[in-house]
Amino acid sequence: MALSVEPGGENHDLAAGLARINAGVADAARAAHRDPAEITTIVVTKFHPASLVRDLYALGVRDVGENRHQEARAKAEETSDLEGLRWNFIGQLQSKKARQVRRYAAAVHSLDRESVIAALADPDPDYPEAAPLPGFLQINLTDDPGRGGVNPAEVEAAATRVLESAALDLRGVMAVAPLDEEPRVAFARLREISERVRRLKPEARFISAGMSHDYAAAIAEGATHLRIGSAITGKRPEQR
Ligand SMILES: *Cc1c(COP(=O)(O)O)cnc(C)c1O
Repeated sequence: MALSVEPGGENHDLAAGLARINAGVADAARAAHRDPAEITTIVVTKFHPASLVRDLYALGVRDVGENRHQEARAKAEETSDLEGLRWNFIGQLQSKKARQVRRYAAAVHSLDRESVIAALADPDPDYPEAAPLPGFLQINLTDDPGRGGVNPAEVEAAATRVLESAALDLRGVMAVAPLDEEPRVAFARLREISERVRRLKPEARFISAGMSHDYAAAIAEGATHLRIGSAITGKRPEQR
């Protein structure tokens, strides 16, 4: 009989990884005088099989994240029986595929280019009655304009574009900390950008920031949605 492969690689203990991160999030929240209940941990399952999503669900996880449309769609289909499971799309979107994300995603964290916003700005003609799609404006915190995310100088224009769309519901901002900078310094800039967005729409107050290695810094700067992968799931399988 073939040996079954454990989620996250042989012998990886998913429950222990999850418990460790939950405790770390609670500690970081306490240190920042925040209520851990206002922080959502999205478990990033990219490159892992749908069976890992099932295992996470059994452990109580309801928010998962994926960064590639085809993979996300396939896993959402394979796990469509899991009630209350929310798929968060966190990767770069191609405008041609953007509209399809609406079919399975509970939220899109990577609204950035005008073409992507435009692709999602109109209701899906096949589901015109669908609720507006919750979205986060991704901010480029690096000084490389070629990276994903809206340039900080263009935040008001991009946010306004999202706010004008009846098919999108702006919830806040999202960012990845640059590799060459202290994460807390970068997340402090994100917090200021979040305040600018809230001047346009007070309810758009959420901040999607913080990954396996920098989530405590993100919590210190107000993150409400963490996107954590490897610290919970173990090493990702070979990237295809
Ligand atoms: C993969 C990914 C994460 C999670 O990264 P880890 O270091 O595994 O926690 C978070 N955000 C985005 C946008 C990602 O692509």
